[in-house]
Parts: sequence; C-alpha cells; structure tokens
Amino acid sequence: MPTESDTNLTIGIIEYLLQFDRSNVFIQEYYYSEVIMSLFYVDKNAQDNGDHEIHTATCSHSPGSKNCDALGYHTACSTALEAAKKIYPQSNGCYYCSYSSYTSESK
Ligand SMILES: [Zn+2]
Repeated sequence: MPTESDTNLTIGIIEYLLQFDRSNVFIQEYYYSEVIMSLFYVDKNAQDNGDHEIHTATCSHSPGSKNCDALGYHTACSTALEAAKKIYPQSNGCYYCSYSSYTSESK
C-alpha cells in the first residue's frame, strides 16, 4: 500500500511533468513560428524591366544585404511584397525564393 506521502510525491511529479510538457509545447510552437517566418529584403537596384526584386535573407540570388532594404520578417512573400511596394512601387517577387509573388513575364 502506498503511503500518503508517496501519493503526494506522485502528484507532485505529475504536476511537474505537465508543466514541463506545456512549456515544451510552447517552445515547439515558438520554434515553428520562427521556421516559417523569413527575413525579406528588397533590392535597391531595379532590374532591367524596372522591378525591384524581393528576396529572403538566405536566397542565393539576393544581391546582398548591403544592396537591399530590409523588409522585416514575413510568413509569406506576399506580405513582404506589400512592404516592398511601400518603398518601391514597382516591386516583384524573386523567381527563385519568392516564386508565388513572382509576376514578371520577361524571364
Ligand atoms: Zn531571391
């Protein structure tokens, strides 16, 4: 037969595990939100067709952060494109990293 102090100890451990589980879920959700948020940039220099292309920070076709204006973190390139259009009305998604916002027909 478990004594009363054993029972209390077990309840204490379960409460501890539940707390841990909740914080672990929180960290996973936070981590997940970090994964889907990307830092976007818009090219300061226009393309031949006048478009200022937006890129994610990790895009290999980005001209480099020094040649770009930072647009902040976005979950989708469509909202990054809206932010870019406030700086450069003629902005466009990158063919490589922001294809869903890419509208140019010249490529
Ligand atoms: Zn790109």
